[in-house]
Amino acid sequence: MEQRALDNIVVVGGGTAGWLSALYAQIVLPTSKITVVESKDIGILGAGEGTVPDFIHFTDFLGIPISRLVRDADATIKNSIKFTNWTGDGSHFHHSFYTEDNLGLDGCNILHPNMCQTNIGIILNTIRQQPLDQIDIVDLAGRSNKAAFTYNGSLLGQNSNPIFDYDIKTRFALHFNAVKLAGVLRSIGEERGIKTVDAKVLSVEKNHNKDIVKLNLDSNSSIPVDFMFDCTGFGRVFIGKEFDAEWVSHSKTLTVSAAVPFFLPLDSEQIPAYTESIAMKYGWMWVIPTRERYGCGYVYDSSMISEEEAIAEIEEHLGFAPEYPRKDKGGFKFEAGYYTTPWVNNCVAIGLSGGFIEPLEATSIWVTTQTLQDVLSNANNMRLIDPRPAAAVNKKFVDRSRQVLDFIYYHYMSGRKDTPFWEHYNEENAPDSLKELIEKWKYSIPEYTDFTNRLFVLNSWMMIARGKNQIDIELAKSVADVGMFESKIGFTYDTLVQRKKEVVDRFVSHGELLKRLANEV
Ligand SMILES: Cc1cc2nc3c(=O)[nH]c(=O)nc-3n(C[C@H](O)[C@H](O)[C@H](O)COP(=O)(O)OP(=O)(O)OC[C@H]3O[C@@H](n4cnc5c(N)ncnc54)[C@H](O)[C@@H]3O)c2cc1C
Repeated sequence: MEQRALDNIVVVGGGTAGWLSALYAQIVLPTSKITVVESKDIGILGAGEGTVPDFIHFTDFLGIPISRLVRDADATIKNSIKFTNWTGDGSHFHHSFYTEDNLGLDGCNILHPNMCQTNIGIILNTIRQQPLDQIDIVDLAGRSNKAAFTYNGSLLGQNSNPIFDYDIKTRFALHFNAVKLAGVLRSIGEERGIKTVDAKVLSVEKNHNKDIVKLNLDSNSSIPVDFMFDCTGFGRVFIGKEFDAEWVSHSKTLTVSAAVPFFLPLDSEQIPAYTESIAMKYGWMWVIPTRERYGCGYVYDSSMISEEEAIAEIEEHLGFAPEYPRKDKGGFKFEAGYYTTPWVNNCVAIGLSGGFIEPLEATSIWVTTQTLQDVLSNANNMRLIDPRPAAAVNKKFVDRSRQVLDFIYYHYMSGRKDTPFWEHYNEENAPDSLKELIEKWKYSIPEYTDFTNRLFVLNSWMMIARGKNQIDIELAKSVADVGMFESKIGFTYDTLVQRKKEVVDRFVSHGELLKRLANEV
């Protein structure tokens, strides 16, 4: 089979996607020359300050300690997303990251072979019609700005990496300052010998196989290419324009299309370990704590309100005018959608250049890292002049993007009908794959096997469903009743609630944890 060389790997784009691609490629292709071409004139998007737990594993694989991200990219711990006012009554619930930790629920899964402990907790909580925070340790911890970590007294101060001084009580992710993150990743890349070129790519040259073999730059020079990563953000410079890849828009399903970012001051002693997502009249607002400030933004449907109206709603909500970092440039504009073939020939689009659904569950960097793993964990496939490896990766990419679409749409189906924006989010307008799940849940409680090989597992769907009060009590009773629980487990629901409180009492202050991780105390 004909093969291409992999001597010159070129990443175009120096945002989060570009640098994650370059650092990963360098590890799996140690003899290749890795070059990042980025245009400082164009700059990076500078949004995207929340992640999911996989980011921790990914940066670990890249050999980047959390401490460095806390110190240099203002990273904070994210244990959940707190959804506020999504049911329209001012209440909140968390999408807490899944944990296998028993947290006082040992043995609960004996009640149902197709459920995990956390979900049995949610079912019992539904039957009791109690507030979800009774069993959600992350919600409880969030009330006193704690993170789900405990000191490991026997190890404290003995490790060169302070994270090992702690027992980690649930999965966690990070928030960070997006501009600083790109800077840290670039520094690490440069320390490791990755070459950077500040220039704009103006045109490409291709060989007889239609592989890109040369990039012509605005500096009147050119760069040879064997394989390239198109990380050009919303510019989408190569995969769409050079290869004519098909774009699938989902803007009629997920209708938010613009965002006004703003900053709020933060008290460094009182830092929540969660992203807050507040439902607004025409979309939602993110509030993300980084170590120096809250990064916030109103994501809205620009076919329904103007940027001025969005700003007026922000200021009405806050009661004052915050700092707007993009006042001169205007807000972000986007469309939910993706290319069906992000990998064509010797070019793969990673990050925003491949597609973007919307920021609600912070999935963009996750899809980025998953796609990188698909491409680079079998790096030898990149040599093959054969469409099959790309087709396999592209199939997974489309499948993941659709899963994100389903999950996010489900959040909006909250029963709110106070504006035309919320009225749109009904069962009729839902993607077909989501309709199938919802139909099943009318007669059967959600189960593990509904989510086999899915990005979001049962726990995530259950937390959103329970948070919106959409788990049917009669169905919940058909899975487990409180009496059965008490007799099989040997303690009562109230004891369970008490145990959870005791667990949370031992959690550490998030502000204090960050200082220790950054080696500041
Ligand atoms: C409002 C909003 C909120 C978001 N929130 C989240 C979140 O919480 N979590 C999450 O995971 N994601 C989020 N995202 C997505 C997130 O911003 C991106 O996944 C992330 O920033 C990666 O961007 P990127 O590297 O693909 O693009 P960019 O950061 O835009 O980088 C593009 C790079 O390409 C370069 N470039 C472009 N054209 C050329 C050219 N011709 N020649 C040379 N260089 C070129 C630019 O100079 C730049 O360096 C959000 C997005 C938006 C719009």
